[in-house]
Amino acid sequence: MSTFRFQALQEFSTRRAERFYPTPARISDSYGVNVFDQTKMKKYLSSEAFEVVRAAVEEGKKIDRRMADQIAAGMKTWALERGATHYTHWFHPLTDATAEKHEAFIEPVKGGGAVENFRGDLLVQQEPDASSFPNGGLRNTFEARGYTAWDPSSPAFIIEDTLCVPSIFVSYTGEALDHKTPHLKSLQELEKAAVKVCQYFDKNVTRVQATLGLEQEYFVVDSALYRARPDLMQTDRTLMGHTAAKNQQLEDHYFAAIPSRVMAFMKDFEVEAYKLGVPLKTRHNEVAPNQFEFAPVYTEANLAVDHNQMMIILLRRIAKRHKLKVIFHEKPFGGVNGSGKHCNWSLRTDTDVNLLSPGKTPRNNLQFLTFFVATIRAVYEHHYLLMSSIMSLNNSHRLGANEAPPAVMSIFVGKTLSKVLDEIEQRVSDKKMTADEKTTLKLDVVGKIPEILPDNTDRNRTSPFAFTGNRFEFRAVGSSANVGFPSMVLNAAVTQQLKRFSDAVDKLIAKGVKKDEAIFQVLRTFIKESKTILFEGNGYSSEWVKEANKRGLRAVKDVPSATDAFLESGAKKLFEELNLFTEKEIEARHEIQNEAFVKKLQIEARVLGDLAINHIIPTAIRYQNLLIENLQGLKDIYSKEEYAKLTGPQIDTLRIISSYIIDIKTKVTDMIEARKKANTIEDISKRAVTYSKTIIPYMQEIRDRIDHLEIIVDDELWPLPKYRELLFLR
Ligand code: ADP
Ligand code: MG
Repeated sequence: MSTFRFQALQEFSTRRAERFYPTPARISDSYGVNVFDQTKMKKYLSSEAFEVVRAAVEEGKKIDRRMADQIAAGMKTWALERGATHYTHWFHPLTDATAEKHEAFIEPVKGGGAVENFRGDLLVQQEPDASSFPNGGLRNTFEARGYTAWDPSSPAFIIEDTLCVPSIFVSYTGEALDHKTPHLKSLQELEKAAVKVCQYFDKNVTRVQATLGLEQEYFVVDSALYRARPDLMQTDRTLMGHTAAKNQQLEDHYFAAIPSRVMAFMKDFEVEAYKLGVPLKTRHNEVAPNQFEFAPVYTEANLAVDHNQMMIILLRRIAKRHKLKVIFHEKPFGGVNGSGKHCNWSLRTDTDVNLLSPGKTPRNNLQFLTFFVATIRAVYEHHYLLMSSIMSLNNSHRLGANEAPPAVMSIFVGKTLSKVLDEIEQRVSDKKMTADEKTTLKLDVVGKIPEILPDNTDRNRTSPFAFTGNRFEFRAVGSSANVGFPSMVLNAAVTQQLKRFSDAVDKLIAKGVKKDEAIFQVLRTFIKESKTILFEGNGYSSEWVKEANKRGLRAVKDVPSATDAFLESGAKKLFEELNLFTEKEIEARHEIQNEAFVKKLQIEARVLGDLAINHIIPTAIRYQNLLIENLQGLKDIYSKEEYAKLTGPQIDTLRIISSYIIDIKTKVTDMIEARKKANTIEDISKRAVTYSKTIIPYMQEIRDRIDHLEIIVDDELWPLPKYRELLFLR
């Protein structure tokens, strides 16, 4: 298909899109209109019902049936006023997407007519026939039902005509079948452990919440072009495509003016996001052409994850209006940067203190150091599990490349804080400290943190886990991931260290050591044990890979081996100790991950094989025929000598094309055979390993040949939009 045709299509799309994007006079007027937030609850619920919801959210109290009826009635009234006709439990099964099954409010009544109905039991619990969600064998037993249960800590919202009630999804026997359940549990455990630690510093703290600010990267392409790429349509990434002559070398896309067509789309998206109470703050062009980012102001972690999932749905929907297609895949285009989701993570108390922000007094700073060091110790101990929590087939394409996450975990804290940690390690000892030693330590080391920190803005973009002044930024997470999962692992790892910390401090205090001194001593041990995870240099360099290996930090190699991290004793102990997963659930998740990997790879391999055989080879042959026709014509015109002298290039091209055709054909056939063989392997983890080892190399080789063909074959004949057409929206 020719370039002209695509340009025409694009322009058609742009004209159509201009009709949309009504910007309200003042955004704040419509902020949150589609969320059943506290203000609406106050308006639509009795004060008794309001109090019950509050207690459920803040104290985890149960909501009884009578109250549930009242709450449902209030929610229904509000939703009907907003034009909703349906409701759904909205949950996060173990797939890449969220799930919803809409039910109409309307119910017929005897004798004719109908009423809108929404009872408390429907709000609190539903039983979707969910037997076809991934369950890792958890539901193959006699009882195949699962149920969704309302998560009142995340407010209900309306998208289009449907009231969505955020929910967890569990099997009939209570095993979690989603990302939200273990995430919520991890937040509760973290809160308990963190409150206990806070008590050493401030008795007023009764609650601690993890906060998340998620920076979401994504690509945008014209939807007509998207539809002409079966690989994008079926796998969310291009399985072939020669790099455009100009891609991101000039570094002219990052933070550049947003193309007007994309701007119209973003504005439209933002208006709808604000109505959903999602405080979008940042928008900008990312590094790769057609790559963008949005980031809301951070909020409580469970809500932040829900918001992110809502935004993924919303962005896709709004894009349709603009004849655009949003791609959340981590690596949709070869040769340009992929997309991640930076997870800015911190802890906040009900006294409104950010526990990862150095305070004004040495006391606050000691508290800061405690949480800072506990996090470092947590990431150190579970560095491999954390890397594994971000691994997927999609994200594996970004990993270890010269962009985004290195394959091995490390933490960047900056020079200043590195020095503080060193000093504590050196100055503190097991021996009783003199009053002088204590004072100098507090004043010189701890007390000076806030003064020196503002200079500490050196950002290391190559670190998968960086301290950025008042939070840690977990950057290795993939753009399409449900953050509930990596966040759960991080929360769990930190909880474990906080518990160890308070246990150790309590023990020392019981032995008669003064509190501050006990804290310093435990901090010193933590620092000593975990400092090998600290790395200030270039995380992308090959030297670091060697150095990390020397330090005993484990790099993830491929998806199946990363998946095995769940089954390791350290991970099992962590999950079981905190009651996050039973052994059965761990095994189920392991199986689900492997299954997803195999299935996705299988789909990609099929699409690539099909395109190679029914798009690419026929195109190559057509071009060969053109060349043959041309040669035959030249034979009639040229003398024998002239013909021999002048037709070399055509004949060379013919030969090259033939060799690529043979190569592609053979490799596709071999790849199919390899798949057939792999499919006979009963054990899913072994099947995943075989898929990874045998199918991925075939795919790379086939792509390589196709990309070579793309630059020799006549552009008019090439059946797929090229990178230069896909990637440069204006
Ligand atoms: P950058 O690209 O420089 O990292 P952005 O402004 O794009 O920064 O995004 C930073 C994100 O970090 C925002 O979502 C912001 O709200 C969030 N953030 C700031 N402070 C905290 C915190 N204490 N806890 C969690 N997230 C935070
Ligand atoms: Mg960032």
